[in-house]
Amino acid sequence: MTFFDVVESMALQSYIMYIITIIAIVIYIFLLRGTPVKRPRLVWVDKSRKTKAFRNKAYGVSGKPDCIYKLADGYRLVEFKSRKSGIYESDRVQAKAAALAARGGSKYKITEILIQTKSTEELIPLNMSDEQLYQDIKYYIELAQKAHQGEPLKAIPEKRKCKYCAYVKVCTEKAC
Ligand code: SF4
Repeated sequence: MTFFDVVESMALQSYIMYIITIIAIVIYIFLLRGTPVKRPRLVWVDKSRKTKAFRNKAYGVSGKPDCIYKLADGYRLVEFKSRKSGIYESDRVQAKAAALAARGGSKYKITEILIQTKSTEELIPLNMSDEQLYQDIKYYIELAQKAHQGEPLKAIPEKRKCKYCAYVKVCTEKAC
């Protein structure tokens, strides 16, 4: 091997090392940045009273959430409550009914629910079928259907609920 062969071989090695270093840096930067996270995108909003509610005919359920966000792998239904206090079971039932209504009456297959008050919030994953979701709130759906047909319902007074109830002035069962 001549002197020039050695120099040429060293130059080639340096060139290869240079290319490898560049590739390593590019990979490092890519890994450092990670996979870009898809932000939730607003896809539906209840603009006014005129906004049509969703209806799931199979389960006879209607509902209108405040808004719906598209997630990377599903849809998030959001319910805002203007009160400062916490989240009631009735909020969860209302949101679940709206989710079931949206699942059956639109392209928005709701996969989670977010309920927010002025002081707190709760995220409820809905890893369940429509049937399971229906069974979860069936009792309340049947109660609402009875009320809609004019059947009197048993009052369940609760101080914190009665305080904000629209019927508190005329209700004889109120707890406050
Ligand atoms: S005021 Fe009467 S109707 Fe309203 S939550 Fe209380 S018990 Fe129920």
